[in-house]
Amino acid sequence: MTKFRLLIKLLIVAIFISSPSTLALPSLNSAPNDDVIAGIKALHRAPEKEMARLKLLLASQQTSPKRHEWNYLYALGKEKRGEYSDALAYLEDCINDPYTEGLMLQRAKMLKAKVLSNTGDAQSAIAILNSVKRWAMNHNVIQLNIGALMTMGYTFERITEPKLALDNYLLAYDMATQFKTQVPAPHIAGLIGTVYLQLSQYEDAKIYLDEAYRFAVKKGNAVTQGHFAQKIASVERELANFVEAEKFYDLTIGIAEKNKDTPLLARAYLGKGKLLLDRGSSEEVISAARANFEKAIMLSQPQESKRIYFEALMAFSRLLLSTGNTAAAIEKIKAAENAIRDVKPGYLHLEAARQKLTIMEAYGDEQSIVNALKQYISLNETVTESLDKSRLQVIRTLYELEEIQEENSSLKAITQLQADKLALNNQRSFLLLVVTSLFVLLSILLFFMYAKRMRYQRKLEKIATTDSLTRLFNRGKTIELLEARMNELPHKSNKCAVAMLDIDLFKTINDKYGHCVGDDALKLFAATAKQNFSASVDMGRLGGEEFLFIFQGVDVSETVKQLETFSQSLKDASIKALGGEIKLTFSAGVLLLTEAQSISSVLEKTDGALYEAKETGRDKIVVFTCL
Ligand code: GH3
Ligand code: MG
Ligand code: MG
Repeated sequence: MTKFRLLIKLLIVAIFISSPSTLALPSLNSAPNDDVIAGIKALHRAPEKEMARLKLLLASQQTSPKRHEWNYLYALGKEKRGEYSDALAYLEDCINDPYTEGLMLQRAKMLKAKVLSNTGDAQSAIAILNSVKRWAMNHNVIQLNIGALMTMGYTFERITEPKLALDNYLLAYDMATQFKTQVPAPHIAGLIGTVYLQLSQYEDAKIYLDEAYRFAVKKGNAVTQGHFAQKIASVERELANFVEAEKFYDLTIGIAEKNKDTPLLARAYLGKGKLLLDRGSSEEVISAARANFEKAIMLSQPQESKRIYFEALMAFSRLLLSTGNTAAAIEKIKAAENAIRDVKPGYLHLEAARQKLTIMEAYGDEQSIVNALKQYISLNETVTESLDKSRLQVIRTLYELEEIQEENSSLKAITQLQADKLALNNQRSFLLLVVTSLFVLLSILLFFMYAKRMRYQRKLEKIATTDSLTRLFNRGKTIELLEARMNELPHKSNKCAVAMLDIDLFKTINDKYGHCVGDDALKLFAATAKQNFSASVDMGRLGGEEFLFIFQGVDVSETVKQLETFSQSLKDASIKALGGEIKLTFSAGVLLLTEAQSISSVLEKTDGALYEAKETGRDKIVVFTCL
């Protein structure tokens, strides 16, 4: 039994070793505050309502420890509305609040950087993002790191530095795929694909946009699905996969119509018109393209989607020029110029001026050529100058940039290190699991082997103590039991009776009917005895047709009574079972024991009483009495 307990203990230890607490992997991201998360979601779902709630809270509770969170959320709402100076003011309150610390402080700083890059202060934004990234690295918060990298990319996009934006987005993408963070990697893939499209790296753009598109489809997000479908259509058009391009433009049109997304619809018609012109130049194609451009112009409101409106007008103008309709072409260019009148001079203005110059060179008189040329040159100067200014700003941030790149490479190294650590941990956990499983398996096996052995041992014991013919105890066990019962005498019960039984004239049965019938008679004797006596009576075969029965806690008269009942049962059973001719009887000698005595003395006394029973006619019970 002690072995069994040991096994149980080992099993418990094994289960403890393999329990989830010891197998758990180290966490990589500290969870953001639930209230803040709920606020962000509410700002997304019902911005007006959430902003009203936050405003009320900020006005009514001046000293709440939650105030910094409301300030943060309110600033986020303002940023979404494009109210940047308000956003900055609330963020300042949040950042200066003594309750703002740890991850929350970094989130506030990151939002501030985003607002600053929206207002054109890329330099300050980058400086802040550098500090956020440093904090994220020191505190091992992957999520924040990804956020900082994405905002950094956004900032570089704003100052038309797509290559630098790409560096940051790609790093963020790597981390998001490696660590399965909150920001889904396909979301970053969409940003990467868009930048590749801008850089005219269409093959790369296709891969990433495809991932973003498939993710939008999987998530059932119709808005982003339409957005990426349009971009994929442009990529396919540039790659001259016209059939695919058309498929995606049509898909975009379908989605945009369903979502009532007019700017997207305008963009899709504009793209489809360009696609038609890419594919052919028949009159039919030209009129179809023209219809598409007209739709794009009509759908894009000059106030809302200025860029599309401008591009559609320019595309239309080029189409008109190709058909020789110069007057109409110039008219469209003028409309396009008009649309971007309020915007700071840039590439778009230059594009319109050059187009006008081309037309004049081909069809205009000398004076109009000179005018167009003058306009182009002066515009070119202004644009180059303003571009140089923004270059200067970029150069000023470059000294910080070097630092960023250095950090990016160390960030990569840290990322790799963490990935290795994670892999090692996984490997270790797996090994531990294997070893534990083997151990548990071995324990179970050992347990079954042990149980089998125990069963076998019990069987052996039974064989060693049982008489094979009668299934009663054998002589050795009977003597052992007699000794034990006598030793228990004064404690357990104060009396005990022993009876020696011998079948009468058994030899004649053997002689008359054969040994086999004799054996059957012995079996019948034992079976009837088992039916008659309770389990407290120990019954053993001493040898031949001689038996010893031990009765506990009964007196002589009770013993004799029970033996007489048995005698009658045996007679009835034998007549029934052995063919009606044999009536089995026995003689018995009974001895009452009140204290222990030697085995030989007990056997001698019972044998004496039995002898008397035989001598005085058999089929009777004689009690031993001291003479
Ligand atoms: P009594 O009434 O005086 O006891 O007469 P009895 O014939 O029973 O006594 P006796 O001792 O002369 O005979 C016992 C016989 O039991 C002798 C022996 O052949 C037979 N015997 C002993 N063991 C077995 C056994 O295992 N099977 C069979 N069939 N007979 C057995
Ligand atoms: Mg006999
Ligand atoms: Mg005998």
